Amino acid sequence: MDLRFPYSPAEVAKVRVVQFGILSPDEIRQMSVVHIEHSETTERGKPKPGGLSDPRLGTIDRKMKCETCMANMADCPGHFGHLELAKPMFHIGFMKTVLSILRCVCFNCSKILADEEEPKFKQALRIRNPKNRLKKILDACKNKSKCEGGDEIDVQGQDTDEPVKKTRGGCGAQQPKISIDGMKMVAEYKIQKKKNDDPEQMPEPVERKQQLSAEKVLSILKRITDEDCQLLGLNPKFARPDWMILQVLPIPPPPVRPSVMMDTSSRSEATQRSGRPIKSICSRLKAKEGRIRGNLMGKRVDFSARTVITPDPTINIDELGVPWSIALNLTYPETVTPYNIERLKELVEYGPHPPPGKTGAKYIIRDDGQRLDLRYLKKSSDQHLELGYKVERHLNDGDFVLFNRQPSLHKMSIMGHKIKIMPYSTFRLNLSVTSPYNADFDGDEMNMHVPQSFETRAEVLN
Ligand SMILES: [Zn+2]
Ligand SMILES: [Zn+2]
Repeated sequence: MDLRFPYSPAEVAKVRVVQFGILSPDEIRQMSVVHIEHSETTERGKPKPGGLSDPRLGTIDRKMKCETCMANMADCPGHFGHLELAKPMFHIGFMKTVLSILRCVCFNCSKILADEEEPKFKQALRIRNPKNRLKKILDACKNKSKCEGGDEIDVQGQDTDEPVKKTRGGCGAQQPKISIDGMKMVAEYKIQKKKNDDPEQMPEPVERKQQLSAEKVLSILKRITDEDCQLLGLNPKFARPDWMILQVLPIPPPPVRPSVMMDTSSRSEATQRSGRPIKSICSRLKAKEGRIRGNLMGKRVDFSARTVITPDPTINIDELGVPWSIALNLTYPETVTPYNIERLKELVEYGPHPPPGKTGAKYIIRDDGQRLDLRYLKKSSDQHLELGYKVERHLNDGDFVLFNRQPSLHKMSIMGHKIKIMPYSTFRLNLSVTSPYNADFDGDEMNMHVPQSFETRAEVLN
């Protein structure tokens, strides 16, 4: 038993293989613990069963247990529910794929339009990469305006699943041109001008251009045989084309939903605290300040500052000119010793808003870990320092920092500097130090990081 995690009654399985695919409606139903049927989330102050906060979906309330796994907020991972859509819907992520597939198959009987004997089609079938194969089949089906059959007379009611087929065995139906218009699909028929022909052969006087409902598309996709799916580059076990039309919607559990606290500490889904609309899940992940670029790429670090660099011929190559505004914002925790206690006492006295030209301190951390915010200290006895305490003081001349310009391509992209507090708002650098950083003074921004312990300071010095 793995002791790193608390006990969970949830089933445990070993991962043997990872298979990507599309969730089928049945799969969504099978993994669901609740059928969501109500739009109301609460009823008489309690989560409504069958609503979006059904307690079986998991708990985000410290006081409540999950009704599916009986675990508490910390241990319950949340469980999916599902919503049966009244009508099928297009899935925006699959619109283009659905269009490609629709263009390959008969609008009426869902058979692939190209003739098996056609060289173009034969050539396409030899392509192993499924995505490329679909492209080639699409190409082979491009100009088919009719679902050609061997014998046009007895096509009515012909079984299209017949395994042995000498002729193509299509249904003879005329094929519309299909296109996408936003989230809509449109089918357009060519008008046939056959004035001298038998009037019975004329196409029915239906509208030339018609909007394709997701329902109609679903019925076409559903009829595509597993065999044809494979030819079209889709493994019917993991990605049937009809699964690309939404029929059942998986409902993510509350623990993974973007939660928004309201004044009453209850949750809503409409707006954020500030009143602006909540971000989509996509932008929470992908946007600049999203999980990936904002948090995982690690661009934003505590105890760091970033600004434009400008040259200063009077500064040493191991020095870095730092603006006052930065020096009075960042801090370094200095431990109180007999050698610095007098100096630190002065900094504490100046506090977070020191007189011009001086630096001060923001916090005192006592040896029991208690943290005193110098903004709110009233009594001067609170400013008392003892050996072993720490003072989170502003940056001072001579402090060592790490300086970096991105992209950090080699060791010299990050180097240690001794700071020198200066007026104005830019980092000041000696011109000779720009080449290892590959920095220019034409607007380049650079990062400064203040190591927070003696050990990391020592590393900087090396
Ligand atoms: Zn649970
Ligand atoms: Zn057909």
